[in-house]
Amino acid sequence: MSEAAAATLGIAGLSRFSSVDYPGQLAAVVFLAGCPWRCGYCHNPDLRRRDSARLHWPEVLAWLETRVGLLDAVVFSGGEPTLDPALPQAMAQARALGFRIGLHSAGMRPQRLPPLLPLLDWVGLDIKAAPQDAALLGRVAGLRSTAAAERAAAAVRASLALLIASGIALECRSTVHPLLHQPRALRELAEQLSAAGVRRWALQIARPEGCQQPLPPVPADYPAPALLADLATTLPGLLLRRA
Ligand code: SF4
Repeated sequence: MSEAAAATLGIAGLSRFSSVDYPGQLAAVVFLAGCPWRCGYCHNPDLRRRDSARLHWPEVLAWLETRVGLLDAVVFSGGEPTLDPALPQAMAQARALGFRIGLHSAGMRPQRLPPLLPLLDWVGLDIKAAPQDAALLGRVAGLRSTAAAERAAAAVRASLALLIASGIALECRSTVHPLLHQPRALRELAEQLSAAGVRRWALQIARPEGCQQPLPPVPADYPAPALLADLATTLPGLLLRRA
């Protein structure tokens, strides 16, 4: 394992203590720079540029050594962390300290997942639209062409299949807003995730404050209670998160 490779990890930020980024674990969160998508509800637009990296992995790793026994886990988030070629080495080094390893990803690079799988304990996979709904994924992620949206949807499907087959603890999470996710889109999400073998799905209501693009507030009754009940019937592991 190359320490020199891990040293190039493009770190844009570090959260030193989080109880919400890895369910049930106290975690440090390492935010990696770079994401090619342009979701309107993105709360981390500054992290989308690769040149936003400003912290050095050797220093973060040295700090993590002081947290052994105090934190349970290290979560690699972003941006889109799987884009960083130094991620496997950095994960291995954090794991060698005894931390559980978590990953936040939108599943856009399935070819980057196989070397990560043996290093992972938990994944939060961002599912922006029903896996077969390339058009909605393209709208949510700000993709510029039908071809780009179809490639992105195929990548998300492949990532989802890899993660489910791996048996790694997985939470799919969908950030939803009524302008983007109509009831039919939510039903398709639940049906397609359930059919794919997803057991835990968090529906996260978009927070308009601080979004990259202005979005109107979300009504308190979105999604409607009857719809939520239907979604929970389709996928019993449904969680609802409102900020
Ligand atoms: S996938 Fe979307 S929400 Fe996530 S960092 Fe990229 S632009 Fe932001």
